[in-house]
Amino acid sequence: MAQQHITVIPGDGIGPSVIESVIQVLTKLNCGFEFDYADAGQTAFKKTGNILPQRTLDLIEKNRVVIKGPLATPVGCGHTSINVTLRKHFKLYANQRPAISFPGTRSRFQNIDIVTIRENTEGLYSGINQFISDDGETAQVTSQITRAGCEKIVRFAFEFARKENRKRVTIVHKANILKSTSGLFLKTAQAVAAEYPDIQSNELIIDHTCMHLVMQPEIFDVIVTTNLFGDIISDLCAGLVGGLGLASGANLGNDCAIFETLHGSAPDLTGKDLANPTSAMLAGAQMLDYLGLKDKSARLRNAIRETLKKGDSLTRDLGGVSGTKDFT
Ligand code: NAD
Repeated sequence: MAQQHITVIPGDGIGPSVIESVIQVLTKLNCGFEFDYADAGQTAFKKTGNILPQRTLDLIEKNRVVIKGPLATPVGCGHTSINVTLRKHFKLYANQRPAISFPGTRSRFQNIDIVTIRENTEGLYSGINQFISDDGETAQVTSQITRAGCEKIVRFAFEFARKENRKRVTIVHKANILKSTSGLFLKTAQAVAAEYPDIQSNELIIDHTCMHLVMQPEIFDVIVTTNLFGDIISDLCAGLVGGLGLASGANLGNDCAIFETLHGSAPDLTGKDLANPTSAMLAGAQMLDYLGLKDKSARLRNAIRETLKKGDSLTRDLGGVSGTKDFT
């Protein structure tokens, strides 16, 4: 079998440090991967004057499997998010974000196992985003959703639920107010759900979903929703299991996948060996699942679980005194 090449984008801030951790672990697991390093974000800008160099795009195109650290994005001004650009460019329409309870964390809950499936390329994040008055006092963003896009993401969620023996898919929307966009999503989702009688489904509006998530998260299994709602509730779910350092995400298309940390570049921790590398390692586990290496992903998740349970090498965000290298 041809050797699997993985494109590695360490990213900005704490990215290189947590990505180094996951590469060490993948190497110890003897996965036989060849790692091709590429730059993006501020790191790339400093080296090449470009935040997303052509070489990086070419390497993603060639290898089709990527593990990526965080990329810094200016808030309220400046360039478009590189993450959003990559998702659109490589048609990574599904964002899959698991939130699983681990021992030894500061979470109030123990039995969470929720996977949020978020539509990744349409909705508010893909629309026109502009000021519509010269004085900068009025701004507008448009949201565009297609039936084909809704059908694809909801089918993805139900297929995932079936493959992973999950019981229920919750369709999250706001069709009572956003009657056209969220209405189209809900109607399409209902039609797809009817094709999967073996999987329970229910519908919940986004505000009720948030309330139920903080009160009784254990009732949720798979959640499928549109771009903005998915972005918010997947971070909410990460918070329920102990924070952004403990959750990861996969951006999936028909034949390309980018696995990433959920947290940002954490400028406050950069260069101090303080970052928790669990998110990067969980992104690595998702990548192993995607490549069909389920025994290795199980070993990796088990090692994370055991290390957190033992508790003698926890990073500061988890109440410990250890650094990234010790934890790794
Ligand atoms: P952040 O996630 O970088 O930091 C938020 C808080 O969480 C900070 O206190 C930080 O110290 C802590 N934290 C984050 N990761 C941690 C880890 N692995 N271990 C321990 N603590 C951790 O969010 P921010 O400060 O809002 O964003 C900083 C930059 O990152 C921004 O430019 C933003 O656009 C970018 N960002 C990128 C991504 C991504 O590429 N996927 C995601 C979120 C934010």
